[in-house]
Amino acid sequence: MRQTIVAGNWKMNGSKEMVNTLILGILQGMPYIESQVIVCVPYPYLSQVESLTTHSQLQVGAQNLNANPFGAFTGEVSANMIKDFGAKYVIIGHSERRTLYGESDTIIAEKVKIALENDLTPLFCIGELLEERKTGKTETVVARQVNAVIDKVGIESFKNIIIAYEPVWAIGTGVTATPQQAQTTHAYIRSLLAQNDVNIAQSVHILYGGSMNPNNAKELIACEDIDGGLIGGASLKSDDFLSICKAG
Ligand code: PEP
Repeated sequence: MRQTIVAGNWKMNGSKEMVNTLILGILQGMPYIESQVIVCVPYPYLSQVESLTTHSQLQVGAQNLNANPFGAFTGEVSANMIKDFGAKYVIIGHSERRTLYGESDTIIAEKVKIALENDLTPLFCIGELLEERKTGKTETVVARQVNAVIDKVGIESFKNIIIAYEPVWAIGTGVTATPQQAQTTHAYIRSLLAQNDVNIAQSVHILYGGSMNPNNAKELIACEDIDGGLIGGASLKSDDFLSICKAG
């Protein structure tokens, strides 16, 4: 039985005041939640969120890393810096990184490897573009994305990786995949892993992301192969985020 995981992706949103209000709001609801809950926050707020969440069940993550350990990489942040601020998770391969910053499957696989080497759990994002879905390429695309990481780190490493299936056409659009569309792709992703190791395939968490909200979360998370959600917009309001957390 896989415990439900709900992770918030704040993206580039926040201020010191907003972070305080949002985290305190989430913490108030935490005693009533059985899911594992993670918030992935912008780098400058990692320290603030770490302080606010000490002694709580709320876990903290970052949204990206640079694959180098240190050095002349102006503006970048390394895995050990993220760890230094108490984060245990890091989003890798989000579609915004793939499309806006040109991150290839090869770069993403390298980042997954570096995260694992630094004891950070990658929230490894995959998903197809609308055009790819329309032309029947969804499975080919997610297989390419997953296999790039299996080839780099090996199937055993998936014991420490959380997958987030996020159809790109559903991210930030208000258009959610239907439970059936999402379940079909999640089952396919699990079958891909099973070709390498049946037990690992059964234990890996595969989250759904893409306009998940308090109204659709329950039906999506109820699907057999959907183990929770990666939440963008709805993670910025504590009430909405908590009600998604309760849907698990
Ligand atoms: C995301 O950015 O990972 C995401 C799922 O965003 P939203 O929930 O806003 O679609």
